[in-house]
Amino acid sequence: MGEQKKIYLSPPHLSGQEAAYMEEAIRSNWIAPVGPDVDAFEEETKALVGVKGAVAVSSGTAAIHLALSLLNIKPNDTVFCSTLTFVASANPILYLGATPVFIDSEPETWNMSPLALRRALNEASLKGKLPKAVIVVHLFGQSAKMDEIRLICNYYDIPVIEDAAESMGSTYKGKASGTLGDFGIYSFNGNKIITTSGGGMLVSDDEKAIEKARFLATQAKEPAPYYQHKVAGYNYRMSNLLAAFGRAQLKVLHDRVQARRRIFDRYCQTLIDLPGLSFMPEMAKTKSNRWLTALTIKEKLAGLSSWQLLEILQQEGIEARLVWKPLHLQPLFNEMAYYPHDDEDQHVAAQLFQTGICLPSGSSLTTEQQDRVIAVIRSAFHHVNQKRYFILGKPGVYE
Ligand SMILES: *Cc1c(COP(=O)(O)O)cnc(C)c1O
Repeated sequence: MGEQKKIYLSPPHLSGQEAAYMEEAIRSNWIAPVGPDVDAFEEETKALVGVKGAVAVSSGTAAIHLALSLLNIKPNDTVFCSTLTFVASANPILYLGATPVFIDSEPETWNMSPLALRRALNEASLKGKLPKAVIVVHLFGQSAKMDEIRLICNYYDIPVIEDAAESMGSTYKGKASGTLGDFGIYSFNGNKIITTSGGGMLVSDDEKAIEKARFLATQAKEPAPYYQHKVAGYNYRMSNLLAAFGRAQLKVLHDRVQARRRIFDRYCQTLIDLPGLSFMPEMAKTKSNRWLTALTIKEKLAGLSSWQLLEILQQEGIEARLVWKPLHLQPLFNEMAYYPHDDEDQHVAAQLFQTGICLPSGSSLTTEQQDRVIAVIRSAFHHVNQKRYFILGKPGVYE
């Protein structure tokens, strides 16, 4: 058998129109972090997701940093954040000298537990130290329980930032992910559902706030005939060249969502009979973009762990990945407070980390490539279970 090409987790998928858009930007000499494509990319995103204001920036992380700056987060403030996420959700809290408090997941969406959030806010309120913001993540495209979360946050009057870096194109009760909070952020990093190679966007219906974000993202230069500055800003604007690239990507967002959902469904149909496997749920009235196909493996039933499967896939040239390691378990954050899903100490995020795995899910994944991934997984399960039949001498007995 010849050398097989590596299968990646979530590689960029070009539409074919990127070069044409970029050529036009080059021809017109708009090679700056400002220009007609940046404006058009913002307008087109606003129309697509249904929001009044948008500012294109250099990364999703920068967009979170700007959202927190707009909310006037200062040293000694606290910000609540989902624990089951990529570190970029919480790093901007540290940039501002504030302290993150981590909230566990709940099993139905794998996202922020409204129970844990309520307990944390109640305690914070009794201590007279409510957070200045709550950052909610929509993991792998699945929306968090936004109605419940908004209700609790509204009660305490806490603004909500949606980290929709992974969920562009997903919907919650028909509304676009990223438009359900006070602020939403998207990421166009190379591995996301659409990409500008690197980039992000901050969106909100609060147009005044978005104008302020635009100002902060361009070094906070005051309107004057000379360089005048009253506050410290950032150099966070998106390059016009990359915005041109992004416009071509935005056109195919819908197709990319369809493709990833098909990939998820096919994994489901072909693997669901394997013992101990469960796929990430999709909550009623939500539609996930299925950015990554994620599933959990009960080792006792399956005969192998997610970590072992990861290694087997890797040996076969298939890039998979464990579910994010919860931030409250990261050495970086080990001093920070954390609230589990319920009082019984049910640590949902930690459990998902121990048992979860993400399979190659790129929208350009071919049927043949997916067949290869499926075959490797089936053979791994077959192999361990045969060994166990041998040991137990009784086929079908798993424990
Ligand atoms: C990718 C990602 C980010 C960061 O986006 P960048 O554009 O890479 O800065 C933030 N949060 C989550 C949940 C992400 O997956």
